[in-house]
Amino acid sequence: MIDMLAGALLQAVAMPQCDVELVVLGVAQDGGVPQVNVQDDPAWADDGLRRRVVSLGVIDRQAGTRYLFEATPDFRTQLHDLNAQADLSGAPDGIFLTHAHIGHYTGLMLLGFESMSAEAAPVYSLPMMANFLRSNGPWDQLVRYENIDLQVMMAEQRVALTPNLGVTAFEVPHRREYAETAGFKIDGPNLSVIFIPDIDRWAEWDTRIEDIVAENEIVYVDATFFDDHELPGRDMSAIPHPRVAETMDLFQDQPAEVRQRIRFIHYNHTNPIRFEDSAETQDVLARGFRIAREGERVCL
Ligand SMILES: [Zn+2]
Ligand SMILES: [Zn+2]
Repeated sequence: MIDMLAGALLQAVAMPQCDVELVVLGVAQDGGVPQVNVQDDPAWADDGLRRRVVSLGVIDRQAGTRYLFEATPDFRTQLHDLNAQADLSGAPDGIFLTHAHIGHYTGLMLLGFESMSAEAAPVYSLPMMANFLRSNGPWDQLVRYENIDLQVMMAEQRVALTPNLGVTAFEVPHRREYAETAGFKIDGPNLSVIFIPDIDRWAEWDTRIEDIVAENEIVYVDATFFDDHELPGRDMSAIPHPRVAETMDLFQDQPAEVRQRIRFIHYNHTNPIRFEDSAETQDVLARGFRIAREGERVCL
């Protein structure tokens, strides 16, 4: 009996129940892993190698709310997992969208008439992104049928979601066919997390990534490609996205405490860090950086 009690106490100490918690729901680039038409990808035969498209969930257990970052092609399973962990059902209390590329917003379709028929699910984005959804089919139908309720965010203006949780959008440079691209700062009672799944180049941004990493405890960054040798037969110099190798070099001389704040996310199916046992994964970890993995949690 005493042993059981001690065991339960130990467990409570080892695994504190967080009031405000972030959970990683997806880590892949827009096309997912395995990607369509890549017939020889080992993930077709091994579910353990599949990677869902980039998404974060945030739960505030005190407020009884949860939020989804990105509405991806894997929205069905990601909302299921988020609701299961929050012990809630229905649409999220907020869906935050970074931009209008297919991996980041097309899951919205499942909120519509043909599927869950949500009632005014709040969808947060910067102004051009909101306007894109309002003015183009099929997304405008979600607005007209009031399946979604567009919440326009202004860059650098914090939105308080609950007494313990806020989100601030900021703009980052990334090809803008339909809309601007946002990054998000998510702040909880104890620490803040940055989410930048897509950016063209660190040098094109008017904010220094070094300052962002200095000011926030956890920073999820664009890890689309590992280096320039990844797409055989293609000149990658014209393809944007900071390479994982380049971002590591940028932070190489920083203390270990700073390097471990960086967590690589949004990896392409060609990026070897998708495999937990690749040489590149070992290299990233040995250099003191981290790789975002589905299911990982952060106590905010
Ligand atoms: Zn993307
Ligand atoms: Zn993009």
